[in-house]
Amino acid sequence: FTIINASYVATAVNANQYPAGELAEIAFIGRSNVGKSSLINSLCRRNGLARTSGTPGKTQTINYFRLAGKLADDSRLEFMLVDLPGYGYAKRAQTARSTWSKFIEEYWLKSSRLKLVCQLIDLRHPPMESDMNVYRWLIEHGLEVQVVATKADKISKSRIRQHIQVIYKDIDMSNLNPAGSILAYSAVSGLGRDELLDVIRNILLK
Ligand code: GDP
Repeated sequence: FTIINASYVATAVNANQYPAGELAEIAFIGRSNVGKSSLINSLCRRNGLARTSGTPGKTQTINYFRLAGKLADDSRLEFMLVDLPGYGYAKRAQTARSTWSKFIEEYWLKSSRLKLVCQLIDLRHPPMESDMNVYRWLIEHGLEVQVVATKADKISKSRIRQHIQVIYKDIDMSNLNPAGSILAYSAVSGLGRDELLDVIRNILLK
């Protein structure tokens, strides 16, 4: 599955502004600075498509990008990539509820075309309280979640598995989502890119 086209569609701050259409949605979420913009740009192979926030906490918008991919048999598969604002600016531990504003919660609850949430967690460190709360909230609300561990090039290959295990244990994946898995990703080396595109393709074709 290869991406052949990616373009910006719309920005929304409430449900009235969600773009019309029938395209399935794949959403991306993570703490500010986790590498979300870099991952989206590397996935689309277009630098500058998703902009780095620069001033954390300022860009509280939902951004929609239309992506077209090509399958092995040359047929096209289109979907909407949805870039949600980063969470976890506050230093103190938060509940998922207080982690994001009303309109983000509105998106989770009202977006009928949402097929998968890719939750990004920094592979270098154990997950933060906010990461764990967000993961639990998404699973408990019946959403399909793929955890993506970012910046994998920053630790040695031999330690990737070990760091994945820490995330797996801390977010309580064995209890909350036994069928789940964690994908290591690097926007720099491209590690995990093909695997993530396969996950997205499989969800879209399901
Ligand atoms: P966002 O706030 O989640 O959108 O994060 P950005 O994509 O802006 O990335 C935050 C910082 O991490 C930037 O300095 C990026 O260059 C860096 N970064 C993001 N992804 C990677 C990665 O895969 N590898 C490395 N080495 N650095 C990364």
